Amino acid sequence: MKVCKFGGSSLANAAQLSKVMDIVLSDAARRIVVVSAPGKRHPRDSKVTDLLISLAEAALAGGNTDREFGAVVERYASIAQDLRLGDDVTLSVENDLRARLARRGELSPGEFTDLLKAAGEDNCAKLVAAAFCARGRKARYASPKDTGMVLSGEFGNAVFDESSYASLSRAFSDFEGIVVYPGFFGYTREGKVATFPRGGSDITGSILAAAVRADVYENFTDVDSVYPVDPRIVPEVTEGIATMTYREMRELAYAGFGVFADEAVIPAVRARIPINIRNTNHPSEPGTMILQSRRVSPGTLVGVAAADGFCSVFVEKYLMNRAVGFGRRLLQIFEEEGIPYEHAPSGVDTQCVIVKECNMPKEKERRIVAAIKRSLSPDFVSVEHDITALMVVGEGMCYTPGMLGKAFTALAEAGVSVSMVNSGSSETSIMITIARRDRDVAVRALYKTFFAHG
Ligand code: ASP
Repeated sequence: MKVCKFGGSSLANAAQLSKVMDIVLSDAARRIVVVSAPGKRHPRDSKVTDLLISLAEAALAGGNTDREFGAVVERYASIAQDLRLGDDVTLSVENDLRARLARRGELSPGEFTDLLKAAGEDNCAKLVAAAFCARGRKARYASPKDTGMVLSGEFGNAVFDESSYASLSRAFSDFEGIVVYPGFFGYTREGKVATFPRGGSDITGSILAAAVRADVYENFTDVDSVYPVDPRIVPEVTEGIATMTYREMRELAYAGFGVFADEAVIPAVRARIPINIRNTNHPSEPGTMILQSRRVSPGTLVGVAAADGFCSVFVEKYLMNRAVGFGRRLLQIFEEEGIPYEHAPSGVDTQCVIVKECNMPKEKERRIVAAIKRSLSPDFVSVEHDITALMVVGEGMCYTPGMLGKAFTALAEAGVSVSMVNSGSSETSIMITIARRDRDVAVRALYKTFFAHG
């Protein structure tokens, strides 16, 4: 059985939704369909989720909500009309929204906003089920409440309660036809609607794939595959990644590969369900398959990613290598400021702590430098900003002779100066820090060396 998830761009209008139905019906194994709320039809359009947030805000402000209400209803009405589903769908969206709005007084603002946000996916799933039925197919909507999708009560940032796998897998143990399931939300133990972070329908799909032990989790989006480099930096990249491992995905996603959030697919990864990223608009393309392991051709990489926004705290102290507890005390200073560290490359008498700039505002930086001086008496401390981390990723690359040489030659020939290299504990990647201004030149140079043929 396959679980397939369709994002907002795949459901933005009737034409897109028809493609979704064709895709699902072309393969009898596609039995569970997870949907987002309708997304943008064109660049200046709004996503239904954003319209719902505006509706919630207007209601919370106590003003008139007709305009926001009408904007949401219109999106469903136009899809229903174009698919000739009759007025019932539109009426039921209106009634559903009114019932949600009526609960304003009994819920906190966070609970109320989540209740409204969830309406996007919920009504979309009902509409998609109705569209399959109108085509004469056996399909039904399944509700997160009835199937037992239990989430924590952090509204807008809820976390899946793993103890609900049992009820989810029971709910899907025996069913006929196609089940259409709304993404993005579930229920707390107290029965309140809670949503995942934005983009959370990917999480729902991944959870269901794990719950039913799907053969594959198909994540349909609007790109043909994941590319080995960011096409905004290397527009000529045409060949996508055919297969990659979970670890490779994680390392590339860490450095900002934006096709999907790696954390969203953790449930599928833990259950070792293959993940297939595919394009609703080009369903014949095989997309990118993400697996536990893959056959690696020696000397190849899977991708190069670049993440901006790092800074590095550099500490030097003569005989640091003999000072017991130096590293722990240094990292503790960051811990006490609540700053997670990303990398900590070290030398004989030097230690760097690389953190994200967004986690270290100026006052924290001042306090950290003062604390290092006070408690570690270093010979020298400095903070460098505007650092970009290049992730050069490929299973086994650190064991293949010549790979590092090739990468550094490419960077040197492009005139990029490397400030730090960390290939420490990962067999799958090396991290190279460079100045932000060299980022695009560096990515293009690595692309040319490792991926451009001819
Ligand atoms: N509709 C939600 C959002 O826009 C969730 C999703 O699409 O995955 O964030």
